[in-house]
Amino acid sequence: MGREMSIKILYIEDNPQNMRLVRKILGAAGYHVIEAVDGESGFRALLESQPNIVLMDVNLPDIDGLELTQRIKSNPELASIPIIALTANAMHGDRERCLDAGCNGYIPKPVTKLNLLSTIASFLPVDQNSGSAV
Ligand code: MN
Repeated sequence: MGREMSIKILYIEDNPQNMRLVRKILGAAGYHVIEAVDGESGFRALLESQPNIVLMDVNLPDIDGLELTQRIKSNPELASIPIIALTANAMHGDRERCLDAGCNGYIPKPVTKLNLLSTIASFLPVDQNSGSAV
């Protein structure tokens, strides 16, 4: 554990099963998970909590996750927060569509523990003492 406790991850997701899975994986790893079930409440949570990373479901009930990503990235005060898209559309070109919208990373569903934790770690600063991600 250790410094993961100070890392805040906002997960915007309307599917309860995905939310439960990601909450379990990230919670066990010691991350502080903030949850939102749609785009508008996710945007408010982002402003309030200033997370270190956002996990963005692309298919949300109110706004498209990629549209919300563009809104965040067009705000200079929020643009530096890494956004990782999660999408069930394993179509060809889907990764490019997410990156074009401004997402910094991409995780295809179904989410695996290894892929989730390694992708998140790649967006965190490296701990100088241990050489591992904080
Ligand atoms: Mn969804």
